Amino acid sequence: MSTLTLFNTLTRKKEPFEPIRQGHVGLYTCGPTVYWYAHIGNLRAYLFADILKRVLMANGLDVDHVMNITDVGHLVSDGDEGEDKLEVGAKREGKTAWEVAAFYTEAFLRDTERLGILAPSKLVKATDHIAEQIEMIQTLEKNGYTYRIDDGVYFDTAKLPSYGELSGQPLEEKEEGARVAINTQKRHATDFALWKFSPKGSTRQMEWESPWGVGFPGWHIECSAMSTKYLGHTFDIHTGGVDHIPVHHENEIAQTKGAYGVPQARVWMHSEFLTVDGGRMGKSLGNLYTLDDLAKKGFDPTSYRLLAHGTHYRHKLNFTFESLLAADATLRRLRETLRDWDAPGVAGCAGYEEEFMAALNDDLNTPQALSVLWKLVDDGTMPTRARARTLLKFDEVLGLHLSQTLGKPLEISQAVQQLVQARDASRAQKDWKESDRLREEIASHGFDVVDTPTGTKVQKGD
Ligand code: AMP
Ligand code: ZN
Repeated sequence: MSTLTLFNTLTRKKEPFEPIRQGHVGLYTCGPTVYWYAHIGNLRAYLFADILKRVLMANGLDVDHVMNITDVGHLVSDGDEGEDKLEVGAKREGKTAWEVAAFYTEAFLRDTERLGILAPSKLVKATDHIAEQIEMIQTLEKNGYTYRIDDGVYFDTAKLPSYGELSGQPLEEKEEGARVAINTQKRHATDFALWKFSPKGSTRQMEWESPWGVGFPGWHIECSAMSTKYLGHTFDIHTGGVDHIPVHHENEIAQTKGAYGVPQARVWMHSEFLTVDGGRMGKSLGNLYTLDDLAKKGFDPTSYRLLAHGTHYRHKLNFTFESLLAADATLRRLRETLRDWDAPGVAGCAGYEEEFMAALNDDLNTPQALSVLWKLVDDGTMPTRARARTLLKFDEVLGLHLSQTLGKPLEISQAVQQLVQARDASRAQKDWKESDRLREEIASHGFDVVDTPTGTKVQKGD
């Protein structure tokens, strides 16, 4: 059996993975900010976490997976300025921030389910953990890491010599890189809000009492507080998108170290971005797609899942409709091929299984794992019952729902069978016009006829 190795952003190298507690993995994933639908770029980040989790499970590990829902405190600037994204959503939709959060949390869960993403063991909301966040800020205050200015309580990044370790940028460099701080009271550009006060003279829809005044938590504290609560001090793996590295995750690490003097997680993993037509995806650019947009165009969400597997998570994935179409056709062809296979036998193809796991254990090399799958599918020297058994094992990680068609011949109604027979007869009489008409009629029942050297084959149409 191959050894699982994972690329750790913190050490900038691939390392053999060893869980802190034998046989068990604590995994934390930064979840969505629920003020709008997740777009397919966001969903790529959760597909990555899903593959990671399934590979850990395939290695016999028991995974405790915690994911947060950011339903307060994530400001539009990603710094500590501007409106809360939830309040922006509320204004846009004429709903309360609470209603917006509930609606888009549901939408997110529906999308992830449609993509075959396994539900986390615990899904935790920032607004359900205000007390834990306040408590953690109090600990940071006691340890001397905080200061208070007009609009909130901030973390003093200069107090923590290791600040910047995740991105490998020392504080001075980070400060230079950071945009000119709008808030002139901040001691350093890299300092960040732990608790923000509600604006003077106005009441926010989401606000709470605290030892420092009425307000709401900064975006970063929820992840440090909730990961500690549910996974303890120093858990195994923390995941997110590459955009989290320089600020959000740097700050999570700082908070946990400042409060408890321990590293938050051992391994930090980040997935690269999805681009569209080679560039940034943006609502204003008209190229931002949700899973619903793809479904409306007739794509099976699983085709997007297959497309995502085709690029390693640490590489940018350039989305085009051509590539989605190709993935969709590939998936259909595979599903149709499997109809003729025998049901899974008791023995699989051990060599292929080893090769498949070796690919995935090499920092989740899904493109390589897919190529092992295609090799297995095409290997006519192996009986289909053995290939079927192995393929279903592969699918426990890939999540392509291959059991839907495996060993299940297409059910074709009497009426369609008669049309196919009539078409065969007209072809025999070289009546091409009639045979074409019949092809159309068969298509209207949802089936395609394919003329093969061994006779006419019927398969599921579009
Ligand atoms: P948010 O809901 O904005 O907090 O983002 C949710 C997740 O999507 C985070 O893990 C981001 O890193 C990730 N993300 C945002 N944009 C993209 C993109 N274009 N491609 C891939 N991941 C993205
Ligand atoms: Zn987070």
